[in-house]
Amino acid sequence: MDALLVDLDDTLLDYSGGVDEHWTAAVHACCPEDGAVDPQRLATVLGEARRWFWSDPERHRRERVNMLGAWTHIVEIGLQRLGVAPDGVAPAIAREFWVRRREAMRLFPDTTASLAALRRRGVRLALVTNGDAGQQRDKIERHDLARFFDAIVIEGEFGAGKPEAIVYRHALAALGASPGEAWMAGDHLEFDVGAPQRLGLRGVWVDRTGQGLPGDSTVLPHRIVRSFGELVAALD
Ligand SMILES: [Mg+2]
Repeated sequence: MDALLVDLDDTLLDYSGGVDEHWTAAVHACCPEDGAVDPQRLATVLGEARRWFWSDPERHRRERVNMLGAWTHIVEIGLQRLGVAPDGVAPAIAREFWVRRREAMRLFPDTTASLAALRRRGVRLALVTNGDAGQQRDKIERHDLARFFDAIVIEGEFGAGKPEAIVYRHALAALGASPGEAWMAGDHLEFDVGAPQRLGLRGVWVDRTGQGLPGDSTVLPHRIVRSFGELVAALD
């Protein structure tokens, strides 16, 4: 392995852990029990609203570069389903949610040691992450990740995101690497494995839950690991 492109959320950083609890806490913080909005009912419909909201690929692409805006829209959809006027509470819940998420997010336990091991091996490293410029930068700074990477490509800064070919090509150019000498690793089968494979990179799928490839998957990873650390340990 000469060069490695790696995803951030749910690959290096535990991004999804505790999401449901944080939504519920944010709703309760902003909606008093005796107010116009029943916090318990809103927390329940938000689960469905989130799944619906993110299930459309085009909406996903459009909204993920402004996460506070996306979360506000999700709460507005939830309130609409309850027949309640938004009345300014949606942005407040979105902000409360982000404050909780930001405090709670942690690198996976093996992340720092694995990145350090790759540096020692002389592997050129690029972080390639979709999403909101401000939030992704904040995560990188807060968790002191920039020191490990030769290149950092954030969708919200770069203007394009995975799975667009220009994103991987930009990262490879920044590393001075050809596709044939590069790997990409991440938890998203299409964005982190299938799309880079079509450009000639080797793709490693981080299957954190251990559920295995979906039966209808058209993507066949070169390697499947349960964690980023498992991939790095396998190089020794
Ligand atoms: Mg990810």
